[in-house]
Amino acid sequence: MAPQLETIDRVGVVGAGTMGSGIAQVAATAGYDVVMRDIEQEYVDNGFETIADSLDRLVAREQLTDADAADVRDRITGTTVLDDLADCDIVVEAALEDLEVKRDVFADLDAICHDDAVLATNTSTLSITSIASATERPDAVVGLHFMNPVPIMEGVEIVVGEKTTDEVTDLAHAFAEALGKTTWEADDKPGFVTNRILMPWINEGIRAYDEGVASKEDIDTGMELGTNVPMGPLTLADHIGLDVCLHASETLHEELGDRYKPAYLLKRKVEAGDLGKKTGVGFYEYE
Ligand code: NAD
Repeated sequence: MAPQLETIDRVGVVGAGTMGSGIAQVAATAGYDVVMRDIEQEYVDNGFETIADSLDRLVAREQLTDADAADVRDRITGTTVLDDLADCDIVVEAALEDLEVKRDVFADLDAICHDDAVLATNTSTLSITSIASATERPDAVVGLHFMNPVPIMEGVEIVVGEKTTDEVTDLAHAFAEALGKTTWEADDKPGFVTNRILMPWINEGIRAYDEGVASKEDIDTGMELGTNVPMGPLTLADHIGLDVCLHASETLHEELGDRYKPAYLLKRKVEAGDLGKKTGVGFYEYE
């Protein structure tokens, strides 16, 4: 049986990179004991440096006291030994965006974690169902897709695999909320909600730059001021990591093919005169 939120004490994080270090930080900030694992001590140390920098910024902004920041740091144990995650009640995997790597990690976690532990993946685009099938507990595997930078971004996408139980899905929502996040749910379809929509946008920004439509600064400014997003596509791609964007885009390309034709529903709504806010009806209804 999956644990209830109240019975979660210890949180495991696999990968101490951009996302893993952030997830470890927010879990420790919420009061959990965290074990953060990477394959080399150097990467674990880098993870702690990222966390220290982030905590320093929060202290400078008076969002955290020095004493609280020290407590957060003390609640996180770093390791290169996967077995150190054996006592964790939930493990969030944030290793490379590579299906074989994730399947290997999940098979190992399945072997060492206690029977009630929930195994979550922070994958951007890979199939939760495929990752889960590397374990004997696919019902207890769920997508817990944090956004970058984890300590700042409020949203977490909960991704429900083919075999994920309702109980585990509910726990994933509750756990993310316990970390101060707001959740939404997506089915296990390529890219879920966020990256299915975001990655073509980023790629189009990159193509526009490559084809000389505008300078990279003007593309980013145009999208920021023209569409009211906090960051243009090229700046955002740099923040996400170009390798992460490439892996995500390759998966989407393989799974979904050419997604750049206008959507059928978009054409149909325009034919119907439902043009959005100005006509009172688009995808939403307006007063
Ligand atoms: P990253 O490259 O910064 O970090 C990945 C870390 O995983 C590295 O430190 C690497 O050494 C470690 N690692 C590799 N194999 C491992 C293993 N077997 N066990 C433990 N650690 C291992 O990558 P990231 O940006 O933190 O991305 C991690 C995951 O989160 C990916 O699946 C990515 O798609 C997803 N994600 C990334 C972002 C983003 O904006 N960067 C946002 C949401 C989700």
